Parts: sequence; C-alpha cells; structure tokens
Amino acid sequence: MASSHLVTYDPRFRTLGQGNVALKQIASGMLWTEGPVYMPQGNYYLWSDIPNDKVYQWAEGMGVRVFDHDPRNSNGHTLDQEGRLISCEHRGRQVTRREHDGTTKVLVDSYDGKRLNSPNDVVVKSDGSIWFSDPSYGILTDYEGKRSEQEQAACYVFRLDPETGDLRIVADDFVKPNGLAFSPDESLLYVSDTGMSHDPNGPHHIRVFDVSETGELLNSRVFADIEVGLSDGFRLDVDGNVWTSCGSGVQVFSPEGDMLGEILVPEVVSNLCFGGPKRNQLLITATTSVYMTYVGATGCY
Ligand code: MG
Repeated sequence: MASSHLVTYDPRFRTLGQGNVALKQIASGMLWTEGPVYMPQGNYYLWSDIPNDKVYQWAEGMGVRVFDHDPRNSNGHTLDQEGRLISCEHRGRQVTRREHDGTTKVLVDSYDGKRLNSPNDVVVKSDGSIWFSDPSYGILTDYEGKRSEQEQAACYVFRLDPETGDLRIVADDFVKPNGLAFSPDESLLYVSDTGMSHDPNGPHHIRVFDVSETGELLNSRVFADIEVGLSDGFRLDVDGNVWTSCGSGVQVFSPEGDMLGEILVPEVVSNLCFGGPKRNQLLITATTSVYMTYVGATGCY
C-alpha cells in the first residue's frame, strides 16, 4: 500500500519507495539542519545545525544529544576510508578531520595563499582523495558563519590529497557549488549548483562529470534540473539512482536522469544520507527537523 508521503512518477519507483513505512520525525526545534552522516562503528547518525553552531547525534533508542558544542558552524560531513569524520566548516573556513584519538586536524584552509570561502559539502573517493565544494554561503552573513571578505576569485570545487596536501581546482565554472557524490563505480561525479539561492535566474540543477584516471573532471553536462527549490545535498544508491533534497522533499532520479518519484517532507529538505546496518534507512535533514524513513534501496557508502 502506498503511503501518502510517496509520489510515484515512474514504475521503477515502486521498489525504491518503501510503501508501508512512516516518515518519522526524530528531532525538531533546530534552525537549519544539514550535513547528515551515518557512523557505522556505533550505528548512529550525526548532523549539523549550522546557525545554532552544534553537531547532533542520534541513534535509535537513544534519542538526540549534542555531539559537538563548537563545530565552527560546520556544514557537510562524510567519512574517510578509515572511518574518520571529515567536516566542512563555515566559520572555520576549513576542512577538518577528527582523528582516532578525538583531536581535530585541519586538512586545508587556503588555496593559493588565500582563505577558502566556506567549505560546504564533501565526499571521499576510494583512493583517499577528498573532494569538496566551496561556495560563499558561510561568509555572506553572520547567520551561518561569519561575514567576511571573499578572497578566492570564484566558488570552486576542489580535490585534496590529504597525504601530500596537494589541493587542486577541479571545477571553476559553478555559481554556488554545493552537494557532491560519486557514482557507485566512481566513474562519475555529480555536483549541484544552488546559484538560484541568491539570483532568481541562477542555476538550480545537478551536473555530472566523467572522472578521469588522474582525477580531472571531463564532459560537464546537466544531469537534472530541480524544479521545486534546490538540490543542496544528495546521495546515490548502489544502483546509481540519485536521491536529492529539494523544496518539497526528496526527489529520486534514475542514472539516466528520469525523475522516478518523490518522498514528500513537511519542511524544505537540505540534505540526506543512507544509513543503518542494511544501508536502507534514509536520514533527512529538513530545515528545523530531522526525519527518518526506510527505503527499498541500498545506499552507497
Ligand atoms: Mg550544502
């Protein structure tokens, strides 16, 4: 039986949506939730509340607690190959890594001698390289960071080798690069552009690139236009479907870019991640709240 929060546009969505499962609100009362990540070592999730400058932790049966009281207005999170937490910090204007001993190491805070804008979202490739977007949201006002001068000439997508510190621009033609994720075989990188947030005529789409053997991005093309709101963040499942945030909930696109269906969420969705022991939970950060549901898909790590 289809639940009222599921909208099917394509028969392929019937096995991706989980029809008899509720959309459960697990936290609320926040300002702008973002940066969800699943921590498999402890079977729990983390997310940022960017304006409140907190990172929260939730596990089934435990409830919600503050995980980090001073994350420097952190935004996106991911894990590296060793399970260490990688964080994008707006106010810190840096990408950091939480070491196994609990200390925080700054991986990068500048390019070409100039401070980064405000790293937003991040993904790690299986070779250990760290790919992140650097739009200016965290330096435009004090609300999500600290109002500051933009030092970089544009809002880039970067690739960092954390072993050598080598930092390269891999895309330089975005207005506001935001969420990013690899296809299951890492031959493709998807990057959203949320330029419409500050310009009604700005981009509101996800682009896709071929990833070369040496880590360059080739053959840029628009993968999908997001028609309700913006794709702030997204993840892929193991079959290559793209699960993206938007203004009305979570939209699901096939690898070919066909919109298959939607999970309607009562608040504007910023981001989401798969999790749980079977990777079939979807944790959804949505404005003041966080929601969890089960899906018929298996998320990528
Ligand atoms: Mg984002």
